[in-house]
Order: sequence, then structure tokens, then C-alpha cells
Amino acid sequence: MPRAKVKQKKKVSESINSLAGLFGPPPPRPTECPDCGSDSILPICYGLPGPEMQEKGRRHEIVLGGCVLSNPRWHCKDCFNSWPEDPPPKGLNGIPEWQRKHLAEKAAEYASLTADAALPPQHDEPTVENCWQRPDGRKVFLLRFPWGRMRIEKRFHLVPLGGTPVYDIRAGLPPMGADYARVHRQAALAAMRFERRPSA
Ligand SMILES: [Zn+2]
Repeated sequence: MPRAKVKQKKKVSESINSLAGLFGPPPPRPTECPDCGSDSILPICYGLPGPEMQEKGRRHEIVLGGCVLSNPRWHCKDCFNSWPEDPPPKGLNGIPEWQRKHLAEKAAEYASLTADAALPPQHDEPTVENCWQRPDGRKVFLLRFPWGRMRIEKRFHLVPLGGTPVYDIRAGLPPMGADYARVHRQAALAAMRFERRPSA
């Protein structure tokens, strides 16, 4: 067999082995969510769902992870945490000028949020149900909107360039047709007001 072919064959069998690891016997079911301690944990199943998987998803016995395999195997029903997490992207993406522009935009966004947070809340702003600090420094906020719950996290963006705080939506999407940018801003404002409340 030509050398190139052998090499290719080895590569294929290696990738099959790694897939077998992913699809093989699932790791033991954790007893509690590492983030909030809840025992309402669901396995995340990847791949194109057949009828059985779809039914399990509908009954909320599993979470459908989609067709792109990633790290998280478990999902917490109470705080929407999914783990193990995918590793953060290595280094910074993009050219330095773009990064600086991006950082300036995020800093301006944060400054505008800060200004709005000083005003009284609007009637349809979400309420903060729970909030905690993760060991990795990210701060979690569980919010309740009229249409459902959302998990957002505050983290520092582009720290090597000076960094600015950003609020990311991690789970709980607004209904179809909602103004996503407005919902994101409302979520960030509610979190910011909660952080600044007098008892905090
Ligand atoms: Zn949890």
C-alpha cells in the first residue's frame, strides 16, 4: 500500500476512535450542577434527532445539542448552565486595529448602559431572580422576562488591551420577532441595577 494511503487510513481510524469516545458510554451523571447546585440535570444529545430523540426533547428528558458536536454534555434546568464548557478561544482574534476599535465600541456601550442605569427602570424591564460569581470571575444573572427566563454573564472583554465589562446572553432567547438588541440592553441594564442596588 502506498505510504500516503496508509497515513490517510490511520487518520481516519484515529478520528473514528475519537468519535467513539464522544459517542461511547456517557460519563457518570453528575449529582449536582457545578454552578448552582441544582439536581435538575439533563444530558445533552448531539446529532440529527430521530423520532425517539425528538420525543425525549419534547418531554424535556434530554437537551438537543444540534448537529455540531461540542464539549457540553450536561445542562442545568434551573440556571441554564451547560458543561464541561468549550475552551475559550486562544489569544485574540483579528488585527490589533480592529481589536482596539471593538474595545472602544464595547467601552462606549458600557458607558451608555451606566448612564441609563442611573434612570428609573422601565415598566417592562426583567427582574433578577438570582446572581452569583463564578470561580473564573464571570458573574451570572438569572433574569425573568414576561416571556421566560434568561441567563446572562458579565465578563471582562479583551483584557490584554485594557479590557471592558460586557454582558453576554448565555441562554434563554426572546420569542421570534422580538427586538434582540433591545432585549439584550434591558437584560444588561437589569443586571447593572442589581449590582448597584443599595444593599449590594
Ligand atoms: Zn445550575
